Amino acid sequence: MKTQRLRLLLQGSFFILFLFAPVFDLFRFDLNVKHFYFLGMNWTLGLDDFLAHRIGPVQAAFNLILRGGLPILGVIATGVWVSYKFGRLYCGWLCPHFSVVETINGMLRRATGKQSIWDKHLLPERNADGSITRPNPWYWFLVVGLALAFAFSWATALLTYMLPPAEIYGNLWNATLTGNQARFIGVGTFLFFIEFMFARHLFCRFGCAIGLFQSLAWMANRKALVIGFNRKRTEACVECNAACDNVCPMRIKPRSIKRHMFTCTQCNQCVDACTQVNVGNPQGTLLKWVDNECALDKSTRDFGHHDEIPPHCFQTVQPPMNADKRGFQSVQQDRR
Ligand code: SF4
Ligand code: SF4
Repeated sequence: MKTQRLRLLLQGSFFILFLFAPVFDLFRFDLNVKHFYFLGMNWTLGLDDFLAHRIGPVQAAFNLILRGGLPILGVIATGVWVSYKFGRLYCGWLCPHFSVVETINGMLRRATGKQSIWDKHLLPERNADGSITRPNPWYWFLVVGLALAFAFSWATALLTYMLPPAEIYGNLWNATLTGNQARFIGVGTFLFFIEFMFARHLFCRFGCAIGLFQSLAWMANRKALVIGFNRKRTEACVECNAACDNVCPMRIKPRSIKRHMFTCTQCNQCVDACTQVNVGNPQGTLLKWVDNECALDKSTRDFGHHDEIPPHCFQTVQPPMNADKRGFQSVQQDRR
């Protein structure tokens, strides 16, 4: 679907940027020269000039604010504003860790029928678009191979954020890494491998400060963008195999209240799944992104309290003309 293709493009581009930003000095901190590089330029706080008595304390303070304080504040303010309005958009659309989560989830689903080894139940074999995915243990080779490849590339890339990339890649190529460099890459690869295999969702939920702060900012805004659910049509779900739950890479339930969707990454896969399931249904999808007064049903619903969903929030969404019409019928068959 169009949204998922766009998301894949952004995720892939950001993943490449994450790996190669140090190579082109787009962003890195060099431990040897002890300053940042940003967009190919040296990024210093200008304190060397102060220590060498070339500038006075006022100029040094001004440098600190201009080169250190303002950029950091700018990034934080932008991040908080985006999260307050749109939730964990960075996670679902850019974050290189979430790309790994989704890739490993997909392969594991093919190997075991589950997106996470910690899931209690197998997912239905039938997908929202009517296709079938049967577990095949041979995919374990891909799961382990991909997790190792991701872990190695992450560990190597992280080292190049601290030491000159030419030196690290040169040493790797010639097998002349120093002891410390080899240990960093070896231990890093091992730890990332364990995390990617067994704790990738746990990290996104509880271990990542960037994710946590995005969620907190999002929760503070009751009118923020959220996956809305048309409760007036819940009977349509009886005919479905919970395609939205099955597809969620964060293993949360998109029809629940906002508090229970604290870690939603706005990936929109649940909406696409529901759109596919209901492709032959003239009333269209039950899930869609909503905000402002339409978001209150999700954000304020709790312990017997609920706001009425304004009628315009879920006006019929027409299914795409070229969509595969097997979705609605085949997921219904699954329930029978
Ligand atoms: S995918 Fe749509 S129809 Fe199916 S359970 Fe989810 S909301 Fe209901
Ligand atoms: S609830 Fe929907 S949008 Fe949120 S993470 Fe799950 S699939 Fe993505």
